[in-house]
Amino acid sequence: MLRVTIDGTRHVVAGQPSILDAAGSVGVEIPTVCHDPRLAPTGACRVCLVHVDGSDRPVAACTTPATDGMVVVTETPELRRLRADLLRMLAREDAGPPAGSTPVDSAFDLLLHRHGVASDERSRHPRSVDVSHPYIAVDMDRCILCFRCVRICADVQGQFTWRVWGRGAATRILPDSGTTLAESSCVSCGACVDTCPTTALQDRTVRATGPATAWTRTVCPYCGVGCELEVGTRDERIVAARPVLDAPVNKGHLCVKGRYAHAFVHATDRVTSPMIRSRGHWEPVSWGEAIDHVASELRRILDRHGPASVGVLGSARATNEDNYVVQKFARVVLGTNNVDSCARVCHAPSAAALGTMLGTGASTNSFDDIEAARTILVFGANVTENHPVVGARIAQAAMRGAGLVVVDPRAIDLVDHADVYLRVRPGTNVALLNALAAVVLDEGLEDVEYLARHVDGLDELRATVAGSTPEAVAPICGVDPDDIRRAARLYATAKPAMSFHGLGITEHRHGTDMVRCLVNLALLTGNIGKPGTGVNPLRGQNNVQGAAHMGCEPHRLTGFVPLDEGRDRCERVWGSPVPSAPGLDAVQMVDAAARGDLHALWVVGWDVLLTNPDTNRTRPALADLDLVVVQDLFLTETARDVGTVFIPACSTYERDGTFMNAERRVQRVRAVIDPVGDSRPDWDALRLAAGAMGHAADFPYASAADIWEEIRRVWPVGAGIGYERLDREHGLQWPCPHDDHPGTTILHADGFARPGGRARLASVPYRPPADAPSEPYPLVLVTGRNLYAFNAGTMTGRTANVTLRPTDTLEISVDDADRLGVVDGAAVRVTSRSGSIELVAEVTDRVRPGELFATFNDARRRVNRVTGPHGDEHTRTPEYKVTAVRVDAVRTSPTGA
Ligand code: SF4
Repeated sequence: MLRVTIDGTRHVVAGQPSILDAAGSVGVEIPTVCHDPRLAPTGACRVCLVHVDGSDRPVAACTTPATDGMVVVTETPELRRLRADLLRMLAREDAGPPAGSTPVDSAFDLLLHRHGVASDERSRHPRSVDVSHPYIAVDMDRCILCFRCVRICADVQGQFTWRVWGRGAATRILPDSGTTLAESSCVSCGACVDTCPTTALQDRTVRATGPATAWTRTVCPYCGVGCELEVGTRDERIVAARPVLDAPVNKGHLCVKGRYAHAFVHATDRVTSPMIRSRGHWEPVSWGEAIDHVASELRRILDRHGPASVGVLGSARATNEDNYVVQKFARVVLGTNNVDSCARVCHAPSAAALGTMLGTGASTNSFDDIEAARTILVFGANVTENHPVVGARIAQAAMRGAGLVVVDPRAIDLVDHADVYLRVRPGTNVALLNALAAVVLDEGLEDVEYLARHVDGLDELRATVAGSTPEAVAPICGVDPDDIRRAARLYATAKPAMSFHGLGITEHRHGTDMVRCLVNLALLTGNIGKPGTGVNPLRGQNNVQGAAHMGCEPHRLTGFVPLDEGRDRCERVWGSPVPSAPGLDAVQMVDAAARGDLHALWVVGWDVLLTNPDTNRTRPALADLDLVVVQDLFLTETARDVGTVFIPACSTYERDGTFMNAERRVQRVRAVIDPVGDSRPDWDALRLAAGAMGHAADFPYASAADIWEEIRRVWPVGAGIGYERLDREHGLQWPCPHDDHPGTTILHADGFARPGGRARLASVPYRPPADAPSEPYPLVLVTGRNLYAFNAGTMTGRTANVTLRPTDTLEISVDDADRLGVVDGAAVRVTSRSGSIELVAEVTDRVRPGELFATFNDARRRVNRVTGPHGDEHTRTPEYKVTAVRVDAVRTSPTGA
């Protein structure tokens, strides 16, 4: 603690702050132009000059540390005059607000106004605004050369798009293209806009609609990083979003999706009234008619075919409260455990492997461990595109000197920062991971003491990997043996080491085994239960962790506990029995529909038809159902093709509740605007249906808060997480069993929730993927996401992100393209054993010969027509990452059909 006197008042401040931060912490604002709390202070603008007792001249408050007993004066006539002179010099660079905007348009304008700098002291530059970028307007005639955009692009995003060009009076800031922003390497995170004090860089929406009049703190509706943002509204419309500086996850940063992709909320094709399909046509109906129809159909189907004939799918885009009500509706109202979520098609293998080996099926550590790790292993995760804010943190850590190992068939962006890049063949992760374990054991790099105290199964693992030398597995996984050794040594010796993994490891025939082998590495080297360590699945959608955790799982209840373990507690709180018959997961529901055993499906916020593999099999199976209720924002492909009732949901921005991010953090979601049209939160539609089916008393909720209070009663591990605490503490990580518990940032610090408190190594031999390439289908297709499109494209497809990436493409190597006569940008036909699609070719060296990559976000392409029926042996998660295909050049341009 430091005692500091500021403007005559004594204060006690914590830590070792600068004078600027010390003053800020006690509510004294010192003016500054070049400072941004996300950046290291430079003192370049000198506007924050203050007097310090004992100093013969003013000092820059941002770069001068506060010291015990220091006496600071922040305002004197001399300081005001000095600041005004400095601001006047800067203003000569700035052409001022454009005609038609307010004279005090930016933070810089406000400073000039307060210091009496007149508008005629501004620059007289001619105006030319670059509006080539769909989200960012560039008006460099307002640039005062504070370099904040250059620094934040490099120091926070790690992108280096903004560059300083020229010297002296000719100094200018331009994108790396030297021309327009659209032609540059910009990844559209908006950090430069956020930091620019003058509006030289400005959101185009603000220029078009005027600034927001109200801001609401909530959580991003996209990926599982869980960034907090403030959403700006004007006249009940969303006009802007900005990052929250004190958000624990994103610390004042966002990606293009969180920052800009919100226009879908007001899209003209948003469906905001319930509809029933009648003789092939959708008819708008009242909520009462829709709910009565659904209730009577469900009753009829239950009477005739029993509870096993209906299924419900929860949503990774919906809140914890919504998903809790989904699974309770299935169990209490329908009497079935046929309930699942899209965790099935992504990270179910992570939950299974982590659960069986460590005792808890969730991420072991926190994103803050990135800065504590000396080595980071990124396995099968294109982090900079799919979890961009975490990707930026990893890139920054690598640039600061942390070791980085990247394992991926594609040369993803993080490869540029990697110490070792292992370009593994799709489907051979177990072979590679066993070789890494073999090197650790052969070279005596294992943590002998940790293994003896905490881990079982070492002898079996040693025997299993004995033959997996780097030389033995290199022909299988295609990785240089020396690189395997370098990666193993780095991970095992430059400790602490942590791993992040994505769907490149889970969406395989042997996905659970692959995660097990990754856990083996962490246990062998003692990289678990400590800061900067652990095994950390990167969850794809914002609440995929929460959807499964709330009980949208056929074999698990709220808290991810097995049915038998949680049954008594749920029955006590619900006052209703939990069905005993085993339930079907999402994949099994489609199988049951194909057999004629499933008759009704209620789908909440999941475009099953577009995202499930093997569309040509899924579609007819679902088309035969008597009742398909689709609850969503738009008429999704599922609704269009097989839906019989449409229930209008409201978006994340229109509802209250909580999300659970990839690091087990529960955060508050707050309604930014009222529900659009006649839409309602998902839980409310289910509550109405429960009431219509005679269960009103079981669903007595008037708000999301009511539901959360019930969740705390059935989930002892989260009982300490209340809305008030979440508002105050900005998120809590479970376990958090009581009100005084601080939450848990690192799991397994004191052992494992397994028999004897010991973890268990897994002995897993390598087996090849299910859909191996062969003569008619000689190439391997991997599918995945990209920066601008999110999952089924339901939301991002209705924003200007489609300008930045208009459609799905097929990445193909130069060799394969030459051999097949494929030209960059031309149409190609991709054919597998399951189906055929047409895509635009992108000839690139990101993929190697024999391998292809395609995104699956464009409903017109339907990439999942070609992915096959195979899935993980343990969880049935589809094998999206290995499909044997052939590629043929086509003469006509793609039609989008
Ligand atoms: Fe949203 Fe994920 Fe981007 Fe953060 S990183 S802004 S959570 S999409």
